[in-house]
Amino acid sequence: MLVLSSPSGAGKSTIARQLLEQESNLKLSISVTTRPRRSSEIEGVHYHFISRERFEQMRERDELLEWAEVHGNYYGTPRDPVEEALATGRDVLFDIDIQGTFQLYDAVRQDVVSIFILPPSIAEMKSRLHRRAEDTDEVIRRRLKTAVGEMKHWSKYDYVIVNDDLQLAFDGARSVLRAERLRRERCPAIGPFIEGMVDDLKRETGEG
Ligand code: 5GP
Repeated sequence: MLVLSSPSGAGKSTIARQLLEQESNLKLSISVTTRPRRSSEIEGVHYHFISRERFEQMRERDELLEWAEVHGNYYGTPRDPVEEALATGRDVLFDIDIQGTFQLYDAVRQDVVSIFILPPSIAEMKSRLHRRAEDTDEVIRRRLKTAVGEMKHWSKYDYVIVNDDLQLAFDGARSVLRAERLRRERCPAIGPFIEGMVDDLKRETGEG
């Protein structure tokens, strides 16, 4: 479970998109949200846009792996698609906030790898939010305010990337994914594989 978190305007969505395009065996967890859809967003691709009532129903039925209220709207991760992907050996990418990340830590810390992405400066972060031109000034102000609380938690993440140069930031995130896939405890088949080779070696050398 690869988690990407960042304050709005740090470039996280671009890095997430590139990872999904270039890494096989990686599936995006599509969240549900009560936030209104932006004009560039597609239902079922960026989010499932649902009503507050439906969200509350999902939460009560334990259909969400984690959830949070962010910038005055609800966001949550539907449990079933994540569990199905993991069960078939796929990695899952999450674009979720700090509250959701901490809930995943509580549930399955050893299966979570988290990356916190930071903008190179507040001026650049503001200019990215304005360039996107999809949110009102009020919404942008609110997002900047939320960023203060979020940035304080950077040290709870496994990795931190400052997105000064998009290519370098992307390379960093991809390196994390590739290295973490190779961790011994994530490769359960490696033990029997090595034992088989040791047996072959013993036969070759007439030992044991
Ligand atoms: P946005 O409205 O810009 O798409 O997302 C706002 C914030 O909500 C981002 O920090 C994003 O990572 C977070 N977010 C999106 N989906 C989820 C989710 O399912 N759970 C949690 N906890 N946060 C989410």
